[in-house]
Amino acid sequence: MPDDRWHVDGARVLADLNTLRGIGAYKTGVHKPTFSEPHMRSLEWLAQRLPEAGLTAAIDGIGNVLGTSTKSGPKLLAGSHLESQNFAGWLDGPLGVVYALEAARIINPDPGANGAVEVAAWCDEEGHFGHFLGSRSYVGGVTDADIDAARDRSSGRTMREALRDVGLAGRPRATAEGGRHIGYIEAHIEQGRTLESGGHSIGIVTSIVGIWQYRITFSGEQNHAGTTRMDIRRDAGLALARFCVAIDDRFPTLCGPRTVWTTGRITLDPGAPSIIPGQAEMLFQIRDDDPDVIYRLEDLLQRMAADVSAQGRCHVGVERVRTGTPAMMDARFQHAIEAAAAIFAGGRSVRLPSGAGHDAQVLAAIMPVGMLFVPSIGGVSHHWSENTCDADIVTGAEVFVEACRHLLAQ
Ligand SMILES: [Zn+2]
Repeated sequence: MPDDRWHVDGARVLADLNTLRGIGAYKTGVHKPTFSEPHMRSLEWLAQRLPEAGLTAAIDGIGNVLGTSTKSGPKLLAGSHLESQNFAGWLDGPLGVVYALEAARIINPDPGANGAVEVAAWCDEEGHFGHFLGSRSYVGGVTDADIDAARDRSSGRTMREALRDVGLAGRPRATAEGGRHIGYIEAHIEQGRTLESGGHSIGIVTSIVGIWQYRITFSGEQNHAGTTRMDIRRDAGLALARFCVAIDDRFPTLCGPRTVWTTGRITLDPGAPSIIPGQAEMLFQIRDDDPDVIYRLEDLLQRMAADVSAQGRCHVGVERVRTGTPAMMDARFQHAIEAAAAIFAGGRSVRLPSGAGHDAQVLAAIMPVGMLFVPSIGGVSHHWSENTCDADIVTGAEVFVEACRHLLAQ
């Protein structure tokens, strides 16, 4: 008879996720902003569970929870995050943390398993105070000055005040020990519809896309909206609107199969209906995992801007304000997840890039990383109704733990 101790306990995984859902519950989801009372209670909950997996728990000076092992052999780091977006879903973050905990509970005490899984819950992945502050701190990418400058985007409270209020001020921040880990693995809900629509149980992430951002400015001539004839106007707002439509017409000829682009805030200056706008600006974003695709599209944007400027009515300028760095997932990790999915998910897996950002992209700077997705019902995320069916959650846990075993056995 097989020994059940060394297998995933699906009921335990679901119970843990539901316990975390009960902390800071909002409708069927949660409201757990970084350093809120329910967020801190969730961190404490995890810290209390980690010894069950043979791990020593610590919460560091930026709110990362880390469980470390003294078991000999290779160590694999696994985790995700426990805070949520405001009034959001119950699985975005906790799923990956509970899978990591389950892997540690099974693999670490198993005398037949090589090495150990160490668990991390990275603070503020959802960016209430910054941009991946917890995982970036761990890889050495956050200075004290960065923390001094960080503020809660909703309340304006400084990060220093928040750290003091939750009792973390003055604690050291944990940083990665060079060579300690064979890599980092993270599970997450897909937050899209690729798995669901294709009938897949498991997504094997190939890369996390980079985000490139641009400020596109239009300069025309401000004038009276009642007395300036249409044929002599130099309306920067109209030029902007036409440019937006032209992007949608022309990008498909040069983009990659999964490139996405979005216009964000648009401002018209002065923005009064009785004045023809002399200036207009749009923030524009492109995501892809292939920088060559981005450079092709950026070149197209510049040519389109030059064409409009040459027509003489408005001048268009394109300025890159953020450069993305796509993170490639390690081939061995992809293989391990695929092999595990063949055993526990009947091979119903597919390789796909992640269009959303995750802590794994930060860890990728210092170690090999891999990611596994489970299906999101209706592709919904960052909303309280976000969900994944129980059977998919359990299958995901089985595949995750097997992939961890496989990686540690190599
Ligand atoms: Zn997340």
